[in-house]
Amino acid sequence: MSAKVWLVGAGPGDPELLTLKAVRALGEAQVVMIDDLVNPAVLEHCPNARVIHVGKRGGCRSTPQAFIHRLMLRYARQGKCVVRLKGGDPCIFGRGGEEAEWLSARGIEVELVNGITAGLAGATQSGISLTQRGVARGVTLVTAHTLDDSSPEWQALAKSGTTLVVYMGVSKLEQVQAGLLEGGLPAGTPVAMIENASLPQQRECRSSLATMCHDARAFELKSPAILVIGEVAARSGGGAFRLIHHRDSKLTRAPDGLVRMTSN
Ligand code: SAH
Repeated sequence: MSAKVWLVGAGPGDPELLTLKAVRALGEAQVVMIDDLVNPAVLEHCPNARVIHVGKRGGCRSTPQAFIHRLMLRYARQGKCVVRLKGGDPCIFGRGGEEAEWLSARGIEVELVNGITAGLAGATQSGISLTQRGVARGVTLVTAHTLDDSSPEWQALAKSGTTLVVYMGVSKLEQVQAGLLEGGLPAGTPVAMIENASLPQQRECRSSLATMCHDARAFELKSPAILVIGEVAARSGGGAFRLIHHRDSKLTRAPDGLVRMTSN
């Protein structure tokens, strides 16, 4: 058997949002290397595989990327079917590209399997249509956290005319807010902050560019969360109703027993 590694997206958390192809890859896997944003519930699809946790949060300290590379290579060269399982999509802020290039350069066949990325899942699960016709003509996925700790071009992004979906933004809310305001985005621009998207403990805080930092503090927003910034973030068109909190009111419980937070 030729050496092969599957780089698989596990989706945002809800195990039912896994693709059929991901389930098949897991079923064939002998070794599964799993990140900490992956819901362990998906491991029911690989009952016989050896599972290795390589995430930053799962109890142990961050596993160095070079070590993860070498581990994948070692198992693949032993002829084992290796699945590298990542939260969301492997190629959206997931190092899928880096890992695929590194393995390919060493003669290992790589197969990439899409997952639903957290930004898209979070919005849809909150009833937000990121490219709602007549409201937003596009969407930009951007990380607030860069390798060299430089700031993204928030001012340019403010002028993009697209809905912004910000990953890894919880500890950078002030920079996001300041940059976008400087770039000319109106203070009243709606912002939705969605924590634990697609999981039963999903919570969402609806706010505005002017008040997002204050509201996030009051809400005790925690990672993992995505920010949706743009006119569409004021909308809530059905979706799965989760924990929502009104900026200046109390938590209210939706018919399914979950609670929501929205601002006016
Ligand atoms: N590859 C992943 C992203 C990994 S970067 C994907 O495609 O989704 C990690 C960031 O993703 C987190 O800081 C957070 O911004 C976002 N994220 C991941 N899972 C999330 C979830 N369930 N809810 C909200 N945000 C999530």
